[in-house]
Amino acid sequence: MLTTRPRGTNDFLPGETEKWQYLEDLLRTVCREFGYREIRIPIFEHTELFQRGVGETTDIVSKEMYTFFDRSERSITLRPEGTASTARAYLEHKMYALPQPTKLFYMGPMFRYERPQAGRYRQFHQFGVEAFGSSEPAVDAEVIGLAMEIYRRLGLNGLEVHLNSVGCPNCRKKHREKLQEFLIKNLNEFCPDCRERFEKNPLRILDCKNAKCQELSQGAPTTLDCLCPECGEHFDKVKGYLDLAEIKYVIDERLVRGLDYYTKTAFEIIVKEIGAQSAICGGGRYDGLLESLGGEPTPGVGFALGMERIFPTLETQGINISIEKPLDVFVATLGDEADKVGFQILMKLRQEGVKSEKDFLGRSLKAQMKHAGRFNARITIIIGETELSRGVVVMRRMDTSEQIEVSLNDVVKVVKENLF
Ligand code: ATP
Ligand code: MG
Repeated sequence: MLTTRPRGTNDFLPGETEKWQYLEDLLRTVCREFGYREIRIPIFEHTELFQRGVGETTDIVSKEMYTFFDRSERSITLRPEGTASTARAYLEHKMYALPQPTKLFYMGPMFRYERPQAGRYRQFHQFGVEAFGSSEPAVDAEVIGLAMEIYRRLGLNGLEVHLNSVGCPNCRKKHREKLQEFLIKNLNEFCPDCRERFEKNPLRILDCKNAKCQELSQGAPTTLDCLCPECGEHFDKVKGYLDLAEIKYVIDERLVRGLDYYTKTAFEIIVKEIGAQSAICGGGRYDGLLESLGGEPTPGVGFALGMERIFPTLETQGINISIEKPLDVFVATLGDEADKVGFQILMKLRQEGVKSEKDFLGRSLKAQMKHAGRFNARITIIIGETELSRGVVVMRRMDTSEQIEVSLNDVVKVVKENLF
């Protein structure tokens, strides 16, 4: 073997891909019902989009991006997330001229150079929604509700919505001062990353995964303490709408999210069982993003959920979403002439939407019947030389072992009658 797949990537094999398809169908269905329409954005973008749209101080931009120069020396980055691209497309295609809000969803692979471990890959998949053009708190609650509806339909239990507000730039300025005042006392004990964040983006110190840093930042002033009246009112209304939708949440004052463009609402959906990688969805409001990309000030709110992390969660909760449909018909033949007729019948059955198979290895009839058994086919059609000379085939219902002769001309019709 010349090489294996790159570290942190996955091959999804048949058996797994059906589960992915099931999930993707479910996501599309829920989005349709909520009025979110699909957008397909490029796999790569100009690097400056993420530098600006995700933020230079985030882990994503500072250490996780797959960035390279293309053949015309343009800096290109494999998308590490979907919000910046969706926002760029919203501006580029003047979607703000449509009746607002513009409600979009995307799904597909994202790329981050991370240390691979359970639930953390270098190529992984996100599903996300973005609602642009409304600052109404009801939209915040709608997107949280959409995420929870997805998990509800999957049959998942034990999920927690963690909710916070990080306020607007004014609240953040006030918070930043208070926070720095608090942190400076023990600054030397924080990790090197946090010491750097202290000047650039001290809010992110609250987000540090390092246990020592978490301990040191216990009791730090929270963004909720610093909300201006408008942001406070927005937060109360979001909570009110969540109550109306009967969505439970816990206030999590340490939840600040890694990305710089978040304003007001920040949320994560947490599942306890899957260990350290417990966040299966993260999102919030980002009223500053579109302006930072060169657009008019435009509010936005959305989330992204990690698709890989859904499957182990389903598994620990004993939920099986495999939807592999058994084979309808296996066509078994004996002899060259029968094989040709069998092939014709097979292709006709498929035109009628019947899931059907034949042997492709020149197996003996006995071996073909065994093969049919592996497929768990509902019906087997057996075409032998003597039957063929009489213009008939044998149709066997595998559940009852009932066996009848059917005229060659009627076989597709009779099979369908027996299946549906
Ligand atoms: P984490 O704290 O786990 O690194 P994050 O803050 O980087 O998460 P986001 O950028 O908000 O995550 O992405 C949203 C979701 O995408 C996460 O909640 C997670 O489910 C998923 N995700 C993020 N990075 C990865 C990865 N490397 N592999 C698999 N899933 C991921
Ligand atoms: Mg991360």
